[in-house]
Formats: sequence, structure tokens, C-alpha cells
Amino acid sequence: MILKILGNNGPFPAANGACSGYLLSSDSGKTRVLIDCGPGVLSRLMAEDCLETLDAVILTHLHYDHMSDMLPLQYALQFNPRKKALPVYAPEEPEAVADLLRRPCFDLWPAEDVTIGEMRVSFTAARHPVPTNAVRVECDGACFVFTGDTNEDALVELFCDGASLLLADCGLSEADHSFTAPHLSALLCGRLAERAGAKRLLLTHLNPKYDPMLLLDEARAAFPAAELAELGGVYYI
Ligand SMILES: [Zn+2]
Ligand SMILES: [Zn+2]
Repeated sequence: MILKILGNNGPFPAANGACSGYLLSSDSGKTRVLIDCGPGVLSRLMAEDCLETLDAVILTHLHYDHMSDMLPLQYALQFNPRKKALPVYAPEEPEAVADLLRRPCFDLWPAEDVTIGEMRVSFTAARHPVPTNAVRVECDGACFVFTGDTNEDALVELFCDGASLLLADCGLSEADHSFTAPHLSALLCGRLAERAGAKRLLLTHLNPKYDPMLLLDEARAAFPAAELAELGGVYYI
């Protein structure tokens, strides 16, 4: 698979940055899925020229930093109509936000295990203030896992087992983290990758208030191979 980072910030974008958005393609290029569509992601998706061929959008949850560009995406689809509505897999709550997605250009599905083209996609509930899923994609003999937004959780840890590439919610530094926090810390991302036996760890949901190099150092204390998910970066899984 090939992962392109269309956004790596949260809960708001850095200057010229973008929030959560990850374009995942199979090696053949026949299957393409967008995971999350936060602010700043749509302009980068347009640069990929794949509105017609995109197989699905998966939204880990309905916080704005993960879905707000779905609103102008509906306009983009009005002016670039597809043969079929775009399948969207997302939690059904909070209801007021889910209602914004009920548009003819979107074909809404619950976040349940599904095969999308060449990709086998599974979900597990993460630990976050609104219904949120971690996402696991198996394809081309490799396994990609995105934690979504989450604090430490035993089931999420099991779900990450053996990931070829683990993309993890690095929303906090360890100093700002607590048991009730909505995010992992950088250090906990490293520990998660180490415990799950992940081959590679990318840190994302980078809050612009932190120096990303400090987060990277913190994660590397537990997982020396940790990397920052670079905006526009391409990763072969
Ligand atoms: Zn978030
Ligand atoms: Zn969130």
C-alpha cells in the first residue's frame, strides 16, 4: 500500500497546514480510500485528482478536525458528479454532525468490517469523548493501522498487533497527558508501537502548540524508529 499524508495536525491546523487526512492506495492503484477529511485536506485531495475514482471515505469520528472538509467536498462533487455516490463509513453520532453528511452525493455506511476493492477494513472502538474508531486496513500482504483519536486502551493495543505501519494519535506531550485525556502522549505512542510489535510508527495529530521534535524525541525513548508523519509525505507499507 501507499500512504500519502494530506493532513497531520489536530485539533486545528498549523500555518499552511491541515488536520487529519490520509490517502491510502493499493499497490496496483485500483483501490483508493481517504481516511478522515479535516480542515485543509480537500485542497490536497483535489491535487490528487481522484474525486471520481476514490472508492470510499472513512471518518474515524465526527470531531471537526477529522471531518469539516466533508462540507465543501459535497460542493466539489456537485460540480464534478460521480457515476455513483461516494461511500462514507462513519459513526452515527453526534447526530447533529452526522446530519451534515446526509447528502445525495454521499452513500453513508456504519463503521463495520468491510471489503473495499482490494482492502479489508476493520474497526474497533477507541477511547475518546465521542464514538471513535481505530481503523485497520489489510492489503497487498501488509497491514496499516490508524489509532484515530484515543487514550490508552487495551483493545486498541490488541488491534494494532503486528502492524506494518502504525499511524498514532500524538495529540499530547507526556507532561500534559492524564488518564482522562482524549489523546495519547508521544511517549505512549512509542510504547504502543513497541508493545504491538509494529514495524514502523508515524506520529500524527500534531498540535501546533508543540515543537514536533520534542514529541519525536519523547516517542523515540520508547520506540527508537518513530517518525513524524510529514505533510505531503508518501510512505510505502
Ligand atoms: Zn482530533
Ligand atoms: Zn477527536
